[in-house]
Amino acid sequence: MQIANTIAQMKAARAKSSGPVGFVPTMGYLHEGHLSLVRQARAENSLVVASIFVNPTQFGPSEDFKSYPRNTERDLSMLEKEKTDIVFMPTAEEMYLEQFNSWVVVEKITDRLEGSFRPGHFKGVATVVAKLFNIVEPTYAYFGQKDAQQLLVIKKMAADLNMNLEVIAAPTVRESDGLAMSSRNVYLNPQERQAATVLFKALTLAQTLQEKGESDAETIRQQMTSVINKEPLAKIEYVSIADTETLEELTTVESTALASLAVRIGKTRLIDNVVLS
Ligand code: AMP
Repeated sequence: MQIANTIAQMKAARAKSSGPVGFVPTMGYLHEGHLSLVRQARAENSLVVASIFVNPTQFGPSEDFKSYPRNTERDLSMLEKEKTDIVFMPTAEEMYLEQFNSWVVVEKITDRLEGSFRPGHFKGVATVVAKLFNIVEPTYAYFGQKDAQQLLVIKKMAADLNMNLEVIAAPTVRESDGLAMSSRNVYLNPQERQAATVLFKALTLAQTLQEKGESDAETIRQQMTSVINKEPLAKIEYVSIADTETLEELTTVESTALASLAVRIGKTRLIDNVVLS
């Protein structure tokens, strides 16, 4: 496994490959969710590149950039076990030169959900992913359904800007009690960890209601909200039943919908979603 710390090193390593290149961008502190993406990339490509970069431009001023969990040694040993070929680990200075002035802004779908609670977040995400795509030049780039809106934003960016790669979506990996794996789960104390199961409970309820024929989106939102409000440590940011493509809130669930939520458990902000179909 080769480690590239500079853009020049990454490009030189990439240039040696003629077959398909699978790319898994991450912010590190890896878990089984990340590794599932690496495994899929490994199965489908001759070269597998993962990146570890805690991207400062996607964090708001009062968010957790400084305290975001980091453990490079552990991450590298996990990636090595999965037979990753190259790990790209640039510094922020390498990625953002002084006077960095070019940004990628995906409009409309970024106004909603995460975008409305985290202003500027997707501008940072789209810009760093566009840069990573230009540096790594992947054939396939793997993203988790866990971050459903991010996945849509990246797909839209790649399509709108005619990027020469395919974005592949991978299912959300969960703990045995349903909690979606996330690097931020480490922030939860044991009591909060227990309370955090309420997110998946609410999403499962949405699924059950829809399966039983409930098509009124507001009824589903209200039932989800009431489950979460029973948990004293949980504070809702949003509960959404939205169109799977435009992310517009639905009145009626016809064929499919994205049920998603953001909930604070103590100080930790967690997001999760399921597709109702
Ligand atoms: P992050 O390190 O949080 O930026 O995530 C890097 C990639 O891993 C993104 O494409 C995420 O959507 C994906 N990912 C994070 N958690 C999970 C999970 N529990 N299951 C599947 N993919 C995930």
